[in-house]
Amino acid sequence: MSITVRRLQSRAALSNESLDAVLSPIEREAMISAASEKLEEFLEILRIDHQNDPNTRGTPGRVARMFVDELVRGRTVAPPSLTDFENRHAYEGMIITGPIDVRSTCAHHLMPIRGEAYVAVLPSPNGKVLGLSKYDRVVDHFAARLQTQEELVQQIGNHLWENTAPTGLAVRISAVHMCRTHRGVRAANGRMVTSAYFGAFLEDASLKNEFLRECASLEVSR
Ligand SMILES: [Zn+2]
Repeated sequence: MSITVRRLQSRAALSNESLDAVLSPIEREAMISAASEKLEEFLEILRIDHQNDPNTRGTPGRVARMFVDELVRGRTVAPPSLTDFENRHAYEGMIITGPIDVRSTCAHHLMPIRGEAYVAVLPSPNGKVLGLSKYDRVVDHFAARLQTQEELVQQIGNHLWENTAPTGLAVRISAVHMCRTHRGVRAANGRMVTSAYFGAFLEDASLKNEFLRECASLEVSR
């Protein structure tokens, strides 16, 4: 086993925790090829002849690359830099953005989670405000891991709260879990909603209500 692969394996962490260092391109390739070998074994255990079956030839490599480069990518790269602008007009009203696409993978079953996030911020009058696309990037960064929806909403909220210091912050995610629609009860529909509130949103129920009303109208206009 190469030194690179050994180093990768010695740094196991929780499924939605960032690795302690950003992966170099060499480490990334080593991770993909090690995972690919294990996926070959996995298909063989399922008695799938991936070497001779034209449909699954190359599948172990494709799946390994998909996991490392896309599904769990958020753990292996640096978080997006949160460039911000002065709140020049000392705007204190609520800024709400959404729906933001959420594409994640359930940590329990490795099945897709697909939904929308909404974020509300009460900017501090002498603080900074983020460019809107930054919220999309933060959501994507934490969604690109094996997640539970409860922890995803909290991680997005904590990151924004700690790095932008607004007066209040609310994050809400509404999503469909394929582990519920494609296995188990095979529910045709049904969403899960999770939310996280910080600062003024925890103290003032009318702020929460305003946020939820706006989420409902953004959902309808989608
Ligand atoms: Zn699941």
